[in-house]
This record gives sequence, C-alpha cells and structure tokens, in this order.
Amino acid sequence: MHPAQELSTPLAPAPWQRTALGANLLSPGGSLGVTIFEEMTTLAVQTGAINLGQGFPDEDGPAEIREAARAAIAAGANQYAPGKGILELREAVAAHQERFYGLAPDPASEVIITTGATEGIAAALLAHARPGDEVLTFEPFYDSYGAIIGLSGATHVTVPLTAPDFMPDLDALEAAFTAQTRVVLLNNPHNPTGAVFPPAVLQRVVDLAAKYGSIIISDEVYEHLTFGVAHTPVASLPGAGERTITISSAGKTFSLTGWKVGWLSGPEDLVAAVRTVKQFLTYSSGTPFQSAIAKGLALPDAFYEGIAAALEQKRDILSQGLRAAGFDVFTPQGTYFVNVDTSPLGITDALDLARRLPALVGVAAIPVPVFCHEEGAQRTRSLLRFAFCKKDDVLEEAAVRLATLRGRL
Ligand code: PMP
Ligand code: GLN
Repeated sequence: MHPAQELSTPLAPAPWQRTALGANLLSPGGSLGVTIFEEMTTLAVQTGAINLGQGFPDEDGPAEIREAARAAIAAGANQYAPGKGILELREAVAAHQERFYGLAPDPASEVIITTGATEGIAAALLAHARPGDEVLTFEPFYDSYGAIIGLSGATHVTVPLTAPDFMPDLDALEAAFTAQTRVVLLNNPHNPTGAVFPPAVLQRVVDLAAKYGSIIISDEVYEHLTFGVAHTPVASLPGAGERTITISSAGKTFSLTGWKVGWLSGPEDLVAAVRTVKQFLTYSSGTPFQSAIAKGLALPDAFYEGIAAALEQKRDILSQGLRAAGFDVFTPQGTYFVNVDTSPLGITDALDLARRLPALVGVAAIPVPVFCHEEGAQRTRSLLRFAFCKKDDVLEEAAVRLATLRGRL
C-alpha cells in the first residue's frame, strides 16, 4: 500500500477551523479535522477505489535522484542542514531560476530551502500577514491557504475564478484590493482549476500590488507542468521583483511528493523575515534529500519537456473518459488536475457525490467546493476535481468505471 493511503484517524478540529476563515477545511456538518485529501484517500482505501483524489503520482521520479539520496545517506549527510538549506541546493535553485526564467536570486541571501512548499507558504504568510491585514487569493484556493491565513489572524479576501476558463475578472480583482491588502497569494499554475494565468493577468496583479503596497507570494509548484502554454513566473514581470516571493517544490516536478523538499526565492528583506519564522517551524529540512534534489534541478531541458508531454497525454486519456461518462470537462492548461461539471448527470452536490463515488464506481475524486468559502462553494457546488498523475492503464480503467456511473445514480 502506498504510505499516503494509510487509513487516517479523525483529528480534533483546530481553533482556526471553528472560524469562518478555515471553514473550507471542515466537512460541512461534521467535526472531523482531516483535510479533504485525507478524507478521500481514506475512503479510496476502504473501498479499494482508484484514487484520483489526492494528487500524488503512482510512479516515482528519476532513478538518479533517488540514487543520489541513498548515496548522500551513505556518505554521512545525516545531521541538521543549515537553517536556510545546504549551499549546493540553494545554488541549484538559483541556477534553475536563471536557466528557465532569466532570474538571478543570490543563493547566499535570496533563497531558502523549506520542508515542502507547504512550509514555505506557511512561513511566508506568518512572516508577512498579521491581524488587521488582508490576504487576497483567487477562489477556489488550495486548502492550506485558508488554514494559514486563519492562523496568521489576517482576513482572507477572495476573487472568483469561474468555469470554463477559470480566469479572474480584472475589474473584480481591482475592486478586491484595499489599503489593508498586505499580501496577494497567487498560485500559478492553479490548483484545483488547472488554469495557467497569462502575463497580462499577472501584470495586472503586479500593478495593483505596487499601487496598494502589497507583497506577492507566488506558489508555482506546478511550474513545469503546463501543456502548450509557457509558465510565466510573476517575479519576472516589470515591477514584481522587489515585492515577490516565489515558492516551488520538488514534489511535483520530480514525482517525489513524499520527500517534502521545497524552496523559495525573493528579495533579501522579504526572504529574511520568512527565514526567521522557518527557524521555529522546522528549523531546517531533510539533509540527504537536499543534495539529491540539487542534482535533479540540474537535469537537462529534455527531462522537463518529457514530464510535461507525458502528463499531457494522461490529461487527454482521462478527459476523454470523463467526457464519455457524461461530464462537462474543463481542459486544464497546467497542473495534474482536471475539473468537471457533474450537473449534466443531474448532480447538484459534488461533495455528496465525492463521498459516494468510491462505493458507486470505484473511483475517488475531490469536490471543488471544499476549496471555497460559502459563496464560492455555491458557485462550484457541482464541480469535481480528478488527478491524472497516474499510469495510463490506471486512467483507462478509471474511465471504464466512470462510464457506468450514469446507470448507477
Ligand atoms: N501548493 C499547491 C498549489 C499544491 O497543490 C501543493 C500540493 N502538493 C502544495 C502547495 C504543497 O506542496 P509540498 O508537497 O511541496 O508541500
Ligand atoms: N497537493 C495535493 C492535492 O492537491 C495534496 C497534498 C495534501 O494531501 N495535502 O491533491
């Protein structure tokens, strides 16, 4: 069994979950404090369903990276790394930013290594947002954003992304900025919708952030998973460099989600504040994995092109199956998630369907409303997210199973 599929035990609701800010983490009407990913993975395990819910690949990343971690352990890289990460990986992150985007963060003072992007997001928000501040995100938003904004005491303000293309309305974006907007937390490519924001949208965010004196925290963990469109790091746009922290992770690019190696880069003053917080979250992150990921980041361009091409094919296999099952499919330009509207099958409550789907047809998915506050949850109430980072034959089998759904409802 994949370790991510161990049965979870219920947790007590955390304090932020009792507030409206973290309400998206609560199972509506229930008191379980588990994330939707854990809830759906548990259901998948209990029913033996194909797990297209929680996003993790079913094939491990490059053998040479895994071998490098083994070698690092054998060579004695087993004690605390420096708080900001080992120099070899900070240099590799800087070289990666230069190679792909022409950015040149200083590995000595403008890059830190984190325990996954999750810690980078948490440390950056806790460093830069406090009670009285507003943090702006698009909605739907990745689950940890609501939780950490809640913990920071800031107010979470959202701008909707609506089907079919999940692009923001730029007037609504402008209207959401206030004098209190301290942080704009971007996610591009975007989970759960699969949207990839074009430079014009990103530039508008930068211009508004400059006008209102906000900083930008940009979660770009899916930077290499785009299909036919280029990823633009917001930090590369005019006016963005001095106010942007960019976050990424080895989990998605190298199919090593369990290693939890992440990183962030940005101007020295913004990064230094994040580092201060990181000291008291984890202090430092896994030493042998860091040197292995440094080798991964140095892989040739062909590796990066290959992962996107393979995933695009998987997207198409699953999308075809979802269409054949009777859903409206919103083709993603990035990430490894595809969203569907279930209403053509007469469904109005995706959360209810997601809870029944594993038993009904043997496939697990994630309901999109859990990535939203109340109004957004209404808007997205019939949407489901499926992960396609799985072997082709697994996706084909999922399609066969989903084709039986209409007759079982
Ligand atoms: N941000 C987004 C948008 C994600 O989808 C994920 C999930 N993998 C993360 C952050 C967390 O990344 P990590 O596993 O590196 O902590
Ligand atoms: N990022 C993964 C997803 O969106 C899940 C990670 C997690 O379980 N927290 O599916």
